[in-house]
Amino acid sequence: MAEITKLEKWRSALNKCIRCGYCYEHCPIYKASGWEIDSPRGKLILLYGVLSGEIEPSEYVANKLFECFHCNRCVKACSSGVPVQDVYNDARAFFLEAGFDVVGTTSVTDHDVCARCLNCVRMCKHEARTFADGKIVTDRIKCQSCGNCLDVCPEKAITIQRGYGTNPEELWTRVHSFFNNAQNPEAKAVVFGCNWSSYPGLQASRYDRFEISKEYMILITACSGRLKSHTVLQALEQGAWGVLICCCPEDECEHGGSPRVKERMKYLNRTLERLGIGSKRIQVAEVPQGNPKQFLDAAGKFIEELKTLGPIA
Ligand code: SF4
Ligand code: SF4
Ligand code: SF4
Repeated sequence: MAEITKLEKWRSALNKCIRCGYCYEHCPIYKASGWEIDSPRGKLILLYGVLSGEIEPSEYVANKLFECFHCNRCVKACSSGVPVQDVYNDARAFFLEAGFDVVGTTSVTDHDVCARCLNCVRMCKHEARTFADGKIVTDRIKCQSCGNCLDVCPEKAITIQRGYGTNPEELWTRVHSFFNNAQNPEAKAVVFGCNWSSYPGLQASRYDRFEISKEYMILITACSGRLKSHTVLQALEQGAWGVLICCCPEDECEHGGSPRVKERMKYLNRTLERLGIGSKRIQVAEVPQGNPKQFLDAAGKFIEELKTLGPIA
């Protein structure tokens, strides 16, 4: 069994958490589930319990610590300066060393399906994927749960088991309920936001001075490069007049998704044009991190443009 004493150095940092809750306002994992146990604060409390001997190290606790999108918003929001991610990283290493083989939100490969093409190894910006002993291995500490390896796998061998709202099926369910809600006749568009760029700013905006229009729904895609054409088409099929994708400026994109989503939407627009639907209904806007005004301005401008086009006939 790994030595819990290795985490002892974080005891004073854990004690610094005054339970103010500023962190969870910004955490996409907590936002998706609404459970305290999924918030940065909840996980720090769990860890404190493990360190003080009141909670047994278990698969459940280990898994919670690996459920994170690494956006770092909790660190920036913490009123007491708790280095949340540094604490988590050491705790993750402790649990792995102790033999808890958990995956959390990291990417998982089905080795029976994997073609060993190494696309995912080459594309992972975080060097979290390697080829060893004839199979792909994910480094669970390095994986940032961006989902880009899922996008490049030709065999669909990779999954993120708990997407906290970002997996395609979860996006589809939310799009479906938005456009099939009789109480929202104003529904016109879906705005997909990157978890690392637009989303953090927008999170803050909910507690700030900005009002979110009922004419569009905001959905978070993890890295925008993970957004598939068929997810965008599903939104149009459900009744959206158009779809806006807010991604990082390319020079700020940490996961390499911005250029890919732009390229993909360019091709999709060409197809829509050939079908007589036009090329204005799917747009991509670059929004820097933590800029809710720019995000909402882009969404507002897009909606005004859609109103001149009307619904898809
Ligand atoms: S890094 Fe982001 S996803 Fe992870 S706990 Fe902090 S706020 Fe939540
Ligand atoms: S591409 Fe993203 S999800 Fe895949 S292994 Fe690398 S960091 Fe993890
Ligand atoms: S991209 Fe998919 S098929 Fe290719 S090596 Fe990675 S997991 Fe295997």
